[in-house]
Amino acid sequence: MKILCIGRNYADHAKELNNQVPTEPVVFMKPDSAILPKGNAFFIPEFSENVQHEIELVVRIDRLGKHIEERFAHRYYSEITLGIDFTARDLQQKLKDKGLPWEKAKAFDGSAFIGPWLNKEKISSLENLQFSLKKNGEIVQKGNTADMLFSVDRLIAELSKYFTLKIGDIIYTGTPAGVGAVAPNDLLELFLEKEKLAQLRVK
Ligand code: MG
Repeated sequence: MKILCIGRNYADHAKELNNQVPTEPVVFMKPDSAILPKGNAFFIPEFSENVQHEIELVVRIDRLGKHIEERFAHRYYSEITLGIDFTARDLQQKLKDKGLPWEKAKAFDGSAFIGPWLNKEKISSLENLQFSLKKNGEIVQKGNTADMLFSVDRLIAELSKYFTLKIGDIIYTGTPAGVGAVAPNDLLELFLEKEKLAQLRVK
């Protein structure tokens, strides 16, 4: 399986990192070795002094597809969750400055936290879904899928122009503003609307 990730899909987050608001999705990938095994703490890797949390809506593909039209994209996924795209921001900045790929900063072991999957039929509206991240009990990131520059269906259409989407592939759909560094012993809690969906500890 592959993990496709979208960068800068919320204008407020693009601005906080001084990036331009994109006219087409910014795409990168993580390998399956990036997935943080269930129940594990997130260990800050030794190569970074500034690993940041990015809470994101995550979608799992459950039907094989290529060149999927946006109007049919909803048929290609039935489960969603929240995840964290952990990012070694200092390393990413160095790579960006040199015009180099981001993988070392984005795709390292444990950098992909995934919450429990929920059937999307149980969600009232995927286009107007609030989510938030608490760090040590305080809300640090708050987003609404209504503010996505590219909707989930549009992302599936765009991605499938380039990559065959396979059953089990995962899409991280981008983070809203409020990204920040994590420190040892931080408790991260992920909320969908008012419900707590998952939590993890930083080590
Ligand atoms: Mg991200």
